[in-house]
Amino acid sequence: MAERLRGKPVADAMKEDITKRVEALKAKGLTPKIGIIRVGANPDDLFYEGGIKKTSEGVGVAFEVFEHGEDIGQEELEKVVRDVGADSSINGILLFAPLPKHLDEKKIRALIPVEKDVDCMTLGGAGKVFADDVTGFPPCTPTACMEILKFYDIPLKGKEITVVGRSMVVGKPMAMLLLREHATVTICHSRTVDLDKVCAAADILVAAVGRAKMIGKDYVKPGQIVIDVGINADPDNPGKYCGDVDYEAVEPIVDQITPVPGGVGSVTTVMLLKHTVIACETQN
Ligand code: NAP
Repeated sequence: MAERLRGKPVADAMKEDITKRVEALKAKGLTPKIGIIRVGANPDDLFYEGGIKKTSEGVGVAFEVFEHGEDIGQEELEKVVRDVGADSSINGILLFAPLPKHLDEKKIRALIPVEKDVDCMTLGGAGKVFADDVTGFPPCTPTACMEILKFYDIPLKGKEITVVGRSMVVGKPMAMLLLREHATVTICHSRTVDLDKVCAAADILVAAVGRAKMIGKDYVKPGQIVIDVGINADPDNPGKYCGDVDYEAVEPIVDQITPVPGGVGSVTTVMLLKHTVIACETQN
């Protein structure tokens, strides 16, 4: 039976550290603040926003939502992002994406100041991550995976690690963060040949595919460590969600595995606040 790499102990340890850092900032008259820019009311965005609000309150980070209707125009939204960017009381910005089709998202993202880009939404932020410039904030999800690996003392140096998924939000930055730790990284995608064999050859497998339970028993081997980034509607349990890994099939084979729910997702929100606190420390 595999060890469950639960996210909660990781998130709790991080919250303790963040709370201390917030107290130190408050003693200097500074309160770290996250500004969330939301267009429309997508239920997934609202759910994430609710989680950020609750966690922010718990650790003492201030929180403000800039909410706009789906019919907002390009110029108006550009002004919102510029104003939030120029507001010195706001240290970190999260822009919910994708934006409605009539908006030029690339142009709007580019207006977020890189030093406030706490979820890597700008090309400047991504450039820093790919150039190993530690002043850049990688996206919160791959950073959450790295926190989990660190918390559970999983060695990365020289390990063969396969990442399934090459998005700019998870797969690619994940690979960069693993490379920083001297892992040997293979990035897979929808055109990878013999994906199951490539996955099964790895010491550590990171699944960021967006397909419910796709990674089954043929994709893993005994001794392996599996990090499941996926959040999908569970086809077998309506109203519940599941990962990209078929947990029931894989868990008896591997050594360690993150559950879904209760794994990577539970660390991601805390990561956003950690980045916001670091941004506040750096900006001041
Ligand atoms: P995405 O942008 O849709 O990217 C999915 C990646 O998986 C793509 O690179 C795609 O390859 C690859 N892929 C799709 N089908 C495949 C297949 N059959 N075989 C091999 N590769 C395949 O998704 P994402 O935004 O990176 O998110 C990935 C997963 O993480 C989703 O389940 C999402 O809900 C979850 N997520 C979780 C968190 C969290 O906090 N836990 C945060 C963000 C995302 P191509 O590039 O070739 O199309």
